[in-house]
Amino acid sequence: MADTTQPRAPRGMHDILPEDTALWRHIRDTAERVGCLFGYRQLQTPLVEDASVFLRTVGDESDIVAKEMYVFEDRGGDRLALRPEGTAAACRAYLEHGMGSRPQPVRLYYFGPMFRYDRPQAGRYRQLWQFGVECIGDASPAADVEVIELQRTLYEQLGLGDLTLRINSIGTAATRHRYVELLREHFRPHAATLSRDSQRRFETNVLRILDSKEDAAHPAVLAAPSILDHLEPADAQHFAEVRALLDALGVAYKVDPRIVRGLDYYARTVWEFEPRGAGGQSTVGAGGRYDGLIELLGGPHTPGTGFATGIERIVLNLRDRGAAGTEPPVDVYTAPLGEAGHVATLRLARELRAAGIAVRLGAPGRGLRAHFRAAESAAARYIAIVGDDEAARGVVQLKPLATEGEQQEVGVGAAIEAVRGRSSRGITPDA
Ligand code: ATP
Ligand code: MG
Repeated sequence: MADTTQPRAPRGMHDILPEDTALWRHIRDTAERVGCLFGYRQLQTPLVEDASVFLRTVGDESDIVAKEMYVFEDRGGDRLALRPEGTAAACRAYLEHGMGSRPQPVRLYYFGPMFRYDRPQAGRYRQLWQFGVECIGDASPAADVEVIELQRTLYEQLGLGDLTLRINSIGTAATRHRYVELLREHFRPHAATLSRDSQRRFETNVLRILDSKEDAAHPAVLAAPSILDHLEPADAQHFAEVRALLDALGVAYKVDPRIVRGLDYYARTVWEFEPRGAGGQSTVGAGGRYDGLIELLGGPHTPGTGFATGIERIVLNLRDRGAAGTEPPVDVYTAPLGEAGHVATLRLARELRAAGIAVRLGAPGRGLRAHFRAAESAAARYIAIVGDDEAARGVVQLKPLATEGEQQEVGVGAAIEAVRGRSSRGITPDA
Protein backbone atom coordinates (compact mmCIF):
# COMPACT_ATOMS: atom_id res chain seq x y z
CA MET A 1 0.00 0.00 0.00
CA ALA A 2 1.20 3.48 -0.74
CA ASP A 3 2.60 5.41 2.21
CA THR A 4 0.37 8.47 2.50
CA THR A 5 2.11 10.16 5.44
CA GLN A 6 3.73 13.43 4.45
CA PRO A 7 7.48 13.52 4.88
CA ARG A 8 8.84 16.20 7.21
CA ALA A 9 12.31 17.66 7.59
CA PRO A 10 14.44 15.42 9.81
CA ARG A 11 14.03 16.10 13.52
CA GLY A 12 16.20 18.99 14.63
CA MET A 13 16.74 20.20 11.07
CA HIS A 14 14.95 23.15 9.58
CA ASP A 15 14.14 24.85 6.33
CA ILE A 16 15.22 28.42 5.81
CA LEU A 17 12.20 29.89 4.09
CA PRO A 18 12.24 32.71 1.53
CA GLU A 19 10.89 35.12 4.15
CA ASP A 20 13.80 34.23 6.49
CA THR A 21 16.36 34.66 3.76
CA ALA A 22 16.72 38.41 4.01
CA LEU A 23 17.88 38.19 7.62
CA TRP A 24 20.14 35.22 6.91
CA ARG A 25 21.69 36.99 3.95
CA HIS A 26 22.25 40.07 6.07
CA ILE A 27 24.07 38.01 8.70
CA ARG A 28 26.12 36.19 6.13
CA ASP A 29 27.06 39.36 4.24
CA THR A 30 28.01 41.09 7.48
CA ALA A 31 30.10 38.12 8.61
CA GLU A 32 31.93 37.89 5.29
CA ARG A 33 32.48 41.64 5.15
CA VAL A 34 33.89 41.73 8.68
CA GLY A 35 36.06 38.70 7.90
CA CYS A 36 37.47 40.55 4.88
CA LEU A 37 37.99 43.73 6.92
CA PHE A 38 40.35 41.70 9.09
CA GLY A 39 42.14 40.09 6.13
CA TYR A 40 40.52 36.67 6.38
CA ARG A 41 39.73 34.62 3.24
CA GLN A 42 37.05 32.05 2.74
CA LEU A 43 37.74 28.34 2.99
CA GLN A 44 35.07 25.84 1.94
CA THR A 45 35.57 22.24 2.99
CA PRO A 46 33.32 19.25 2.23
CA LEU A 47 30.31 18.62 4.45
CA VAL A 48 31.74 15.18 5.18
CA GLU A 49 35.22 14.27 6.34
CA ASP A 50 37.01 11.09 7.16
CA ALA A 51 35.69 10.43 10.67
CA SER A 52 39.24 10.32 12.00
CA VAL A 53 39.61 14.07 11.41
CA PHE A 54 37.25 14.62 14.34
CA LEU A 55 37.92 11.44 16.31
CA ARG A 56 41.61 12.33 16.56
CA THR A 57 41.14 15.96 17.51
CA VAL A 58 37.86 16.79 19.17
CA GLY A 59 38.28 14.27 22.00
CA ASP A 60 36.57 10.98 22.87
CA GLU A 61 34.81 12.46 25.84
CA SER A 62 33.64 15.64 24.18
CA ASP A 63 29.87 15.79 23.69
CA ILE A 64 30.48 15.93 19.98
CA VAL A 65 32.31 12.64 19.67
CA ALA A 66 30.68 10.84 22.60
CA LYS A 67 27.10 11.36 21.52
CA GLU A 68 26.54 13.87 18.75
CA MET A 69 28.51 12.92 15.67
CA TYR A 70 26.81 11.46 12.60
CA VAL A 71 29.18 8.70 11.51
CA PHE A 72 28.49 6.32 8.67
CA GLU A 73 30.17 3.94 6.32
CA ASP A 74 29.94 4.78 2.65
CA ARG A 75 29.45 2.11 0.01
CA GLY A 76 33.18 1.59 -0.29
CA GLY A 77 33.53 0.94 3.43
CA ASP A 78 35.14 4.29 4.31
CA ARG A 79 34.16 5.68 7.68
CA LEU A 80 32.91 9.22 7.19
CA ALA A 81 31.40 11.84 9.47
CA LEU A 82 29.08 14.73 8.74
CA ARG A 83 31.24 17.57 9.96
CA PRO A 84 30.22 18.60 13.50
CA GLU A 85 32.47 21.68 13.53
CA GLY A 86 34.79 23.62 11.30
CA THR A 87 38.15 23.91 13.02
CA ALA A 88 39.45 20.36 12.62
CA ALA A 89 38.37 20.40 8.96
CA ALA A 90 40.13 23.73 8.38
CA CYS A 91 43.30 22.35 9.95
CA ARG A 92 43.04 19.22 7.80
CA ALA A 93 42.84 21.48 4.74
CA TYR A 94 45.71 23.64 6.00
CA LEU A 95 47.92 20.55 6.20
CA GLU A 96 46.70 18.92 3.01
CA HIS A 97 47.40 22.04 0.94
CA GLY A 98 50.75 22.82 2.51
CA MET A 99 49.54 26.15 3.87
CA GLY A 100 52.31 25.92 6.44
CA SER A 101 54.71 27.13 3.73
CA ARG A 102 52.65 30.28 3.06
CA PRO A 103 53.32 33.44 5.02
CA GLN A 104 52.02 32.85 8.55
CA PRO A 105 49.54 33.22 10.05
CA VAL A 106 47.03 31.90 7.53
CA ARG A 107 43.70 33.64 8.10
CA LEU A 108 40.59 31.69 7.08
CA TYR A 109 36.86 32.00 7.53
CA TYR A 110 33.99 29.63 6.76
CA PHE A 111 30.22 29.82 6.69
CA GLY A 112 28.13 26.70 6.43
CA PRO A 113 26.14 23.92 8.04
CA MET A 114 27.44 21.61 10.75
CA PHE A 115 25.73 18.45 12.03
CA ARG A 116 25.31 17.33 15.62
CA TYR A 117 22.91 14.80 17.05
CA ASP A 118 21.98 17.29 19.77
CA ARG A 119 18.72 17.41 21.73
CA PRO A 120 16.55 19.77 19.65
CA GLN A 121 15.18 22.83 21.42
CA ALA A 122 15.13 26.58 20.88
CA GLY A 123 18.50 27.55 19.40
CA ARG A 124 19.69 23.94 19.33
CA TYR A 125 19.49 21.99 16.10
CA ARG A 126 20.93 18.93 14.45
CA GLN A 127 21.86 20.84 11.36
CA LEU A 128 23.20 24.15 12.59
CA TRP A 129 24.99 26.87 10.69
CA GLN A 130 28.21 28.43 11.82
CA PHE A 131 30.42 31.28 10.79
CA GLY A 132 33.92 30.78 12.07
CA VAL A 133 37.43 32.07 11.60
CA GLU A 134 40.80 30.43 12.09
CA CYS A 135 44.11 32.21 12.51
CA ILE A 136 46.68 29.46 12.03
CA GLY A 137 50.41 29.78 12.59
CA ASP A 138 50.57 32.50 15.22
CA ALA A 139 51.18 31.63 18.87
CA SER A 140 51.02 35.19 20.17
CA PRO A 141 48.42 36.65 22.52
CA ALA A 142 47.89 39.26 19.80
CA ALA A 143 46.40 36.59 17.52
CA ASP A 144 43.83 35.65 20.20
CA VAL A 145 42.95 39.31 20.55
CA GLU A 146 42.69 39.79 16.78
CA VAL A 147 40.17 36.97 16.59
CA ILE A 148 38.20 38.19 19.62
CA GLU A 149 38.15 41.70 18.14
CA LEU A 150 36.85 40.31 14.85
CA GLN A 151 34.09 38.45 16.67
CA ARG A 152 33.22 41.50 18.75
CA THR A 153 33.11 43.68 15.62
CA LEU A 154 30.80 41.19 13.93
CA TYR A 155 28.31 41.30 16.80
CA GLU A 156 28.56 45.07 17.02
CA GLN A 157 27.85 45.47 13.30
CA LEU A 158 24.88 43.13 13.63
CA GLY A 159 23.47 45.25 16.44
CA LEU A 160 24.45 42.73 19.14
CA GLY A 161 27.15 44.87 20.69
CA ASP A 162 25.88 44.21 24.22
CA LEU A 163 26.84 40.53 24.37
CA THR A 164 29.02 39.63 27.35
CA LEU A 165 32.50 38.31 26.66
CA ARG A 166 33.84 35.76 29.16
CA ILE A 167 37.42 34.61 28.90
CA ASN A 168 39.60 32.07 30.63
CA SER A 169 42.87 30.25 30.21
CA ILE A 170 42.96 26.48 30.45
CA GLY A 171 46.75 26.23 30.17
CA THR A 172 48.37 23.34 28.37
CA ALA A 173 47.55 19.63 28.45
CA ALA A 174 50.09 19.05 31.26
CA THR A 175 48.55 21.79 33.41
CA ARG A 176 45.12 20.36 32.80
CA HIS A 177 46.17 16.85 33.79
CA ARG A 178 47.38 18.08 37.15
CA TYR A 179 44.37 20.32 37.62
CA VAL A 180 41.95 17.55 36.68
CA GLU A 181 43.35 15.40 39.51
CA LEU A 182 42.76 18.26 41.95
CA LEU A 183 39.27 18.71 40.62
CA ARG A 184 38.48 15.02 40.93
CA GLU A 185 39.49 15.08 44.60
CA HIS A 186 37.38 18.21 45.05
CA PHE A 187 34.26 16.67 43.52
CA ARG A 188 34.66 13.14 44.93
CA PRO A 189 32.76 13.77 48.20
CA HIS A 190 29.98 15.55 46.28
CA ALA A 191 29.74 13.25 43.26
CA ALA A 192 26.51 11.59 44.37
CA THR A 193 24.71 14.95 44.56
CA LEU A 194 25.64 16.04 41.03
CA SER A 195 23.40 15.66 38.00
CA ARG A 196 23.57 12.39 36.13
CA ASP A 197 25.49 14.02 33.30
CA SER A 198 28.06 15.37 35.72
CA GLN A 199 28.37 11.98 37.37
CA ARG A 200 29.27 10.56 34.01
CA ARG A 201 31.71 13.41 33.51
CA PHE A 202 33.18 12.70 36.94
CA GLU A 203 34.30 9.34 35.60
CA THR A 204 35.38 10.47 32.17
CA ASN A 205 36.02 14.21 31.92
CA VAL A 206 35.90 15.98 35.27
CA LEU A 207 36.76 19.33 33.73
CA ARG A 208 33.43 19.48 31.95
CA ILE A 209 31.51 19.39 35.23
CA LEU A 210 32.51 23.05 35.43
CA ASP A 211 30.42 24.00 32.43
CA SER A 212 27.51 21.70 33.18
CA LYS A 213 24.28 23.58 32.58
CA GLU A 214 22.33 21.63 35.19
CA ASP A 215 24.91 22.03 37.93
CA ALA A 216 25.79 25.66 37.25
CA ALA A 217 24.58 26.68 40.73
CA HIS A 218 25.74 23.57 42.60
CA PRO A 219 27.78 24.61 45.69
CA ALA A 220 30.57 22.20 44.81
CA VAL A 221 30.82 23.72 41.33
CA LEU A 222 30.88 27.22 42.76
CA ALA A 223 33.57 26.23 45.28
CA ALA A 224 35.76 24.38 42.78
CA PRO A 225 39.43 25.36 42.64
CA SER A 226 40.23 27.76 39.79
CA ILE A 227 42.46 26.60 36.98
CA LEU A 228 43.89 30.10 36.89
CA ASP A 229 45.67 29.36 40.18
CA HIS A 230 47.42 26.40 38.58
CA LEU A 231 48.73 27.77 35.28
CA GLU A 232 52.37 27.36 34.26
CA PRO A 233 54.19 30.71 34.30
CA ALA A 234 54.33 30.88 30.48
CA ASP A 235 50.58 30.25 30.20
CA ALA A 236 49.79 32.77 32.90
CA GLN A 237 52.00 35.27 31.06
CA HIS A 238 50.16 34.59 27.78
CA PHE A 239 46.81 35.14 29.49
CA ALA A 240 48.00 38.36 31.15
CA GLU A 241 49.04 39.68 27.73
CA VAL A 242 45.69 38.80 26.20
CA ARG A 243 43.94 40.70 28.97
CA ALA A 244 46.31 43.66 28.71
CA LEU A 245 45.64 43.96 24.96
CA LEU A 246 41.88 43.70 25.47
CA ASP A 247 42.15 46.38 28.15
CA ALA A 248 44.19 48.59 25.85
CA LEU A 249 41.50 48.22 23.16
CA GLY A 250 38.76 48.95 25.66
CA VAL A 251 37.11 45.57 25.09
CA ALA A 252 34.94 44.69 28.09
CA TYR A 253 35.23 41.11 29.37
CA LYS A 254 34.81 38.98 32.46
CA VAL A 255 37.38 36.43 33.53
CA ASP A 256 35.44 33.23 34.19
CA PRO A 257 37.52 30.25 35.33
CA ARG A 258 34.59 27.92 34.67
CA ILE A 259 34.77 28.27 30.92
CA VAL A 260 36.50 25.11 29.80
CA ARG A 261 35.00 24.53 26.31
CA GLY A 262 33.58 21.30 25.04
CA LEU A 263 36.38 20.28 22.73
CA ASP A 264 39.59 18.72 23.98
CA TYR A 265 41.94 20.38 21.53
CA TYR A 266 41.84 23.77 23.18
CA ALA A 267 44.82 25.20 25.06
CA ARG A 268 45.45 28.49 26.80
CA THR A 269 42.91 31.19 25.89
CA VAL A 270 39.22 30.24 25.63
CA TRP A 271 36.19 32.51 25.48
CA GLU A 272 32.44 32.75 24.95
CA PHE A 273 30.01 35.51 24.03
CA GLU A 274 26.65 35.33 25.80
CA PRO A 275 23.54 37.48 25.89
CA ARG A 276 23.43 39.60 29.02
CA GLY A 277 22.04 37.75 32.00
CA ALA A 278 21.56 34.48 30.11
CA GLY A 279 22.60 30.97 31.06
CA GLY A 280 25.00 28.72 29.17
CA GLN A 281 22.31 27.37 26.85
CA SER A 282 22.39 30.54 24.88
CA THR A 283 26.08 31.01 24.07
CA VAL A 284 26.10 32.87 20.79
CA GLY A 285 29.66 32.10 19.86
CA ALA A 286 32.76 30.61 21.38
CA GLY A 287 36.40 30.33 20.58
CA GLY A 288 39.80 29.40 21.78
CA ARG A 289 43.40 28.57 21.06
CA TYR A 290 44.19 25.11 19.73
CA ASP A 291 47.96 24.86 19.60
CA GLY A 292 48.05 21.05 19.61
CA LEU A 293 45.41 20.32 17.02
CA ILE A 294 47.50 20.15 13.87
CA GLU A 295 49.92 17.73 15.53
CA LEU A 296 46.97 15.46 16.31
CA LEU A 297 46.32 15.39 12.55
CA GLY A 298 49.89 14.28 11.92
CA GLY A 299 51.34 17.69 11.09
CA PRO A 300 54.16 19.70 12.64
CA HIS A 301 53.50 21.66 15.82
CA THR A 302 51.47 24.65 14.62
CA PRO A 303 49.63 27.11 16.86
CA GLY A 304 46.16 28.33 16.02
CA THR A 305 43.27 30.30 17.41
CA GLY A 306 39.70 30.92 16.24
CA PHE A 307 36.02 31.05 17.01
CA ALA A 308 32.69 29.77 15.72
CA THR A 309 29.36 31.48 16.10
CA GLY A 310 25.98 29.83 15.64
CA ILE A 311 23.86 31.57 13.01
CA GLU A 312 20.53 30.32 14.45
CA ARG A 313 21.50 31.84 17.79
CA ILE A 314 22.32 35.14 16.10
CA VAL A 315 18.92 34.98 14.37
CA LEU A 316 17.21 34.31 17.73
CA ASN A 317 18.92 37.29 19.32
CA LEU A 318 18.16 39.56 16.39
CA ARG A 319 14.50 38.49 16.29
CA ASP A 320 14.25 39.19 20.03
CA ARG A 321 15.22 42.73 19.10
CA GLY A 322 12.63 42.88 16.35
CA ALA A 323 14.95 42.53 13.38
CA ALA A 324 13.35 41.22 10.23
CA GLY A 325 15.65 42.01 7.36
CA THR A 326 14.34 43.60 4.21
CA GLU A 327 12.86 41.59 1.39
CA PRO A 328 14.49 42.17 -1.97
CA PRO A 329 12.37 44.69 -3.88
CA VAL A 330 10.15 43.99 -6.85
CA ASP A 331 10.82 46.93 -9.15
CA VAL A 332 8.21 46.31 -11.80
CA TYR A 333 5.08 44.21 -12.03
CA THR A 334 3.98 43.60 -15.62
CA ALA A 335 0.27 43.67 -16.40
CA PRO A 336 -0.52 42.14 -19.82
CA LEU A 337 -3.93 42.78 -21.33
CA GLY A 338 -4.58 40.67 -24.41
CA GLU A 339 -2.44 38.21 -26.29
CA ALA A 340 -0.12 40.64 -28.07
CA GLY A 341 0.20 42.50 -24.79
CA HIS A 342 1.32 39.30 -23.08
CA VAL A 343 4.14 38.64 -25.55
CA ALA A 344 5.16 42.30 -25.28
CA THR A 345 5.45 42.07 -21.47
CA LEU A 346 7.74 39.06 -21.82
CA ARG A 347 10.00 41.08 -24.14
CA LEU A 348 9.78 44.09 -21.87
CA ALA A 349 10.73 41.95 -18.85
CA ARG A 350 13.79 40.66 -20.68
CA GLU A 351 14.99 44.21 -21.40
CA LEU A 352 14.28 45.46 -17.89
CA ARG A 353 16.09 42.50 -16.32
CA ALA A 354 19.06 43.03 -18.62
CA ALA A 355 19.19 46.53 -17.12
CA GLY A 356 19.24 45.04 -13.61
CA ILE A 357 15.60 45.73 -12.83
CA ALA A 358 13.67 43.05 -10.90
CA VAL A 359 10.46 42.09 -12.68
CA ARG A 360 7.52 40.04 -11.47
CA LEU A 361 5.42 38.76 -14.38
CA GLY A 362 1.70 39.26 -14.10
CA ALA A 363 -0.30 36.34 -15.49
CA PRO A 364 -2.23 36.92 -18.73
CA GLY A 365 -6.01 36.69 -18.68
CA ARG A 366 -6.52 38.95 -15.67
CA GLY A 367 -8.41 42.20 -15.63
CA LEU A 368 -6.77 45.51 -14.78
CA ARG A 369 -8.15 45.60 -11.23
CA ALA A 370 -6.78 42.14 -10.48
CA HIS A 371 -3.40 43.24 -11.86
CA PHE A 372 -3.31 46.26 -9.58
CA ARG A 373 -4.15 44.11 -6.55
CA ALA A 374 -1.41 41.60 -7.46
CA ALA A 375 1.13 44.38 -8.03
CA GLU A 376 0.35 45.89 -4.65
CA SER A 377 0.59 42.62 -2.79
CA ALA A 378 3.97 42.06 -4.45
CA ALA A 379 4.96 45.51 -3.12
CA ALA A 380 6.08 46.41 -6.65
CA ARG A 381 7.40 49.93 -7.14
CA TYR A 382 5.86 50.24 -10.59
CA ILE A 383 3.19 48.59 -12.65
CA ALA A 384 3.77 48.37 -16.43
CA ILE A 385 0.53 47.83 -18.33
CA VAL A 386 0.72 46.57 -21.90
CA GLY A 387 -2.44 46.01 -23.98
CA ASP A 388 -2.52 44.94 -27.58
CA ASP A 389 -2.59 48.59 -28.64
CA GLU A 390 0.53 49.49 -26.60
CA ALA A 391 2.17 46.33 -27.95
CA ALA A 392 1.52 47.47 -31.52
CA ARG A 393 3.03 50.91 -30.81
CA GLY A 394 6.00 49.62 -28.73
CA VAL A 395 5.11 51.53 -25.56
CA VAL A 396 3.95 50.75 -22.03
CA GLN A 397 1.70 52.49 -19.52
CA LEU A 398 3.98 52.96 -16.51
CA LYS A 399 2.57 53.97 -13.13
CA PRO A 400 4.49 54.33 -9.87
CA LEU A 401 2.86 52.50 -6.96
CA ALA A 402 5.22 53.24 -4.07
CA THR A 403 5.19 57.00 -4.66
CA GLU A 404 2.69 59.54 -5.95
CA GLY A 405 2.76 59.91 -9.69
CA GLU A 406 0.68 59.81 -12.81
CA GLN A 407 0.46 56.94 -15.21
CA GLN A 408 2.46 57.79 -18.31
CA GLU A 409 2.92 56.27 -21.70
CA VAL A 410 6.62 55.65 -22.31
CA GLY A 411 8.97 53.63 -24.45
CA VAL A 412 11.17 50.93 -22.96
CA GLY A 413 14.21 53.19 -22.65
CA ALA A 414 12.30 55.80 -20.66
CA ALA A 415 10.74 53.08 -18.52
CA ILE A 416 14.21 51.84 -17.58
CA GLU A 417 15.34 55.37 -16.76
CA ALA A 418 12.29 56.00 -14.61
CA VAL A 419 12.52 52.76 -12.67
CA ARG A 420 16.23 53.19 -12.09
CA GLY A 421 15.36 56.09 -9.88
CA ARG A 422 15.37 59.17 -12.07
CA SER A 423 12.50 61.18 -10.72
CA SER A 424 9.23 59.47 -11.38
CA ARG A 425 7.65 62.78 -12.27
CA GLY A 426 10.17 63.32 -15.00
CA ILE A 427 9.08 60.46 -17.17
CA THR A 428 9.37 61.59 -20.74
CA PRO A 429 7.98 59.67 -23.66
CA ASP A 430 10.61 58.23 -25.96
CA ALA A 431 11.09 60.26 -29.08
P1 ATP B 1 26.78 24.19 23.74
O1 ATP B 1 27.52 24.21 25.02
O2 ATP B 1 25.67 25.21 23.63
O3 ATP B 1 26.37 22.80 23.31
P2 ATP B 1 29.11 23.93 22.19
O4 ATP B 1 30.22 24.10 23.16
O5 ATP B 1 28.74 22.58 21.75
O6 ATP B 1 27.82 24.71 22.67
P3 ATP B 1 30.67 25.04 20.05
O7 ATP B 1 31.14 23.72 19.62
O8 ATP B 1 31.60 25.95 20.71
O9 ATP B 1 29.35 24.87 20.94
O10 ATP B 1 29.97 25.78 18.82
C1 ATP B 1 30.04 27.18 18.66
C2 ATP B 1 28.67 27.79 18.55
O11 ATP B 1 27.84 27.05 17.69
C3 ATP B 1 27.89 27.81 19.86
O12 ATP B 1 28.28 28.90 20.63
C4 ATP B 1 26.48 27.96 19.36
O13 ATP B 1 26.20 29.31 18.99
C5 ATP B 1 26.50 27.15 18.12
N1 ATP B 1 25.95 25.80 18.36
C6 ATP B 1 26.54 24.73 18.92
N2 ATP B 1 25.73 23.68 18.93
C7 ATP B 1 24.57 24.09 18.35
C8 ATP B 1 23.33 23.45 18.04
N3 ATP B 1 23.12 22.18 18.32
N4 ATP B 1 22.37 24.19 17.43
C9 ATP B 1 22.57 25.48 17.12
N5 ATP B 1 23.71 26.13 17.38
C10 ATP B 1 24.71 25.45 17.99
MG1 MG C 1 27.25 21.22 22.39
